[in-house]
Amino acid sequence: MNTTVYLDNNATTMVAPEVLDAMMPFLTERYGNPSSMHGFGGSVAKDIERARQSVARLIGADHDYEIVFTATGTESDNMAIQGALAYYRDRRHVITSRVEHPAVLSLCKKLEKEGYRITYVPVDHEGNLDMGVLKEAVDDDTAIVSIMYANNETGVIFPIDEIGLFLKERGIPFHVDAVQAAGKVPIDVNRIQCDLLTISGHKFHSPKGIGALYVRRGTRMRPILFGGHQEKGRRPGTENVPGIVGMGKAAELALTHLPEYAGRVSALRDRLENGILALFKNAGLNGNRDRRVPNTTNVGFEYIEGEAILLYLDGQGIAASSGSACSSGTLEPSHVLRAMGVPFTSAHGSIRFSLSRFTAERDVDHVLAVMPDVVNRLLDISPYWDSEKKEGRPITL
Ligand code: PLP
Repeated sequence: MNTTVYLDNNATTMVAPEVLDAMMPFLTERYGNPSSMHGFGGSVAKDIERARQSVARLIGADHDYEIVFTATGTESDNMAIQGALAYYRDRRHVITSRVEHPAVLSLCKKLEKEGYRITYVPVDHEGNLDMGVLKEAVDDDTAIVSIMYANNETGVIFPIDEIGLFLKERGIPFHVDAVQAAGKVPIDVNRIQCDLLTISGHKFHSPKGIGALYVRRGTRMRPILFGGHQEKGRRPGTENVPGIVGMGKAAELALTHLPEYAGRVSALRDRLENGILALFKNAGLNGNRDRRVPNTTNVGFEYIEGEAILLYLDGQGIAASSGSACSSGTLEPSHVLRAMGVPFTSAHGSIRFSLSRFTAERDVDHVLAVMPDVVNRLLDISPYWDSEKKEGRPITL
């Protein structure tokens, strides 16, 4: 499959060439186990510590040892929430939002079955968190609040500084899923005042299968995995050394490229978005335009199916993502768009384009060039669109 235009960077990113170079020695000659007594293995431990420093710098952590390497963002999210619950055994309430990633929501559903009380904070039609509900929900029984920094589907950024301050004053542990923020916007765990923060390497140009959890010094939690002494017993298992070294290099690069995201990438995203919105009167933006990560746009096309748009785009060598998930034979709009109350007619036709620093002007030109044909062809065969009158038909569900 020869994809020429990759606009699905919120799903995963390409490994940066410098990251691959940094990893190569650890996939070839430097394969020793960092826990070994001999120098061949033991010397690798220093490279892990260097990577830990780079990751700590990316998120503004005070101490390197506040970084625990894990396998994925999913694992870090689970470790944060389950680790806090394992410590606060007498507290049975968890607060999260309705639009979290399944890494958090599926866990919360499981906890609910086990008798935990879960508050799912709603969002408004632009994807903004209802802070009133969140603040009201906090009580003495709350073990942890887990809220994402930026949403993976819309890119909308939540007011995590305000949440952090509010929870700090009440002594409630705060976990932030920053998987979609790392490498796109500056992160500072001391500004947020969070206790725990998740990042995942493959979203910022290191390989898949490496993540990290920031654990503020003094945070009360227990491990959820049991085994050796790696990561100071907080996350046992022989280290993924190439992944860790790669993530360290990617973190270094991400810091230096942050201004490019605020500038060039954001401008490119806006050009793509404005171009699409200007082309079609049946297209609208999903999410708050002003409070978003700079690489993401989510556009809803009324009367046509997102999956069909994706297939046509795929045929043109363009990789993007849709806001719907095909489940059990029915096309269900995503839980994020549903929580935002996006109307049926556009939720089904929602497409997410997510850029990276490797996205070029010509990529956006290509999308804008092929979009009219794609959308017009799909409108012509849409049962919800009257091609003669050029308007939507009433929909009966
Ligand atoms: N959290 C968010 C917001 C995500 O977007 C993702 C992945 O898409 C994850 C968690 C899970 O990360 P990983 O793929 O590393 O398990």
